[in-house]
Amino acid sequence: MTYAFDPAPTPTLAIVGSTTRFPVNRIFCVGRNYAAHAREMGQDEREPPFFFMKPRNAVVDCSGDETPLPYPPMTSNFHHEVELVVAIGKGGANIAREQAGSLVFGHAVGLDMTRRDLQFAARDKGRPWEFGKAFTASAPIGAIVPEAGRGVMRGGAIWLAVNETRKQGSDIGLMIWSVEEAISYLSRYEALQAGDLIMTGTPEGVGPVRPGDLMHGHIDGLPDIRVRVDAS
Ligand code: MN
Repeated sequence: MTYAFDPAPTPTLAIVGSTTRFPVNRIFCVGRNYAAHAREMGQDEREPPFFFMKPRNAVVDCSGDETPLPYPPMTSNFHHEVELVVAIGKGGANIAREQAGSLVFGHAVGLDMTRRDLQFAARDKGRPWEFGKAFTASAPIGAIVPEAGRGVMRGGAIWLAVNETRKQGSDIGLMIWSVEEAISYLSRYEALQAGDLIMTGTPEGVGPVRPGDLMHGHIDGLPDIRVRVDAS
């Protein structure tokens, strides 16, 4: 095989306690998986959650002390959404909820960064969300904690602070669809593959960041992430 030009590199994430890296395949994201966030988006909280995707070049490795993040073009409303990220280590289709945990490689803290103005403009016209959600560097993610017998995460505090002021806060246990349910549901529509990531949705309190702002994301038991929006 000879390529006409160098293929794009495979993005990778750090793994806690390992020198090996997690090679990222696809990124699936759950929409409206916390009732209070569905309400703040003006939606009926009883509507079933749904999925959208980001390209893998959305991934930004945030395993360092403070990671710079570009302010994206064509927006004036760049929002943070802190989320539990599930890293898939083994593929499969039509996975029963009881078996879903066996696909999980580990968990990490991530941000589903969103150009909210573009997302809402698309949403209101019934158009796809890509320009609002699926842009370069829209998925800053911290180091992955391997599952390694701990089991799938079912609870724990999740919060995000901007410039040390708490903006989002909830508990993983309040997700409408659990990690296992999300994996099982998704695997009926698309066979999961090793390297896939699932961003499991954000709790209430989303809001804008500006150039120079520092986002600090936390989930109990996982490494925090600190992400600085590039000064303009
Ligand atoms: Mn989200």
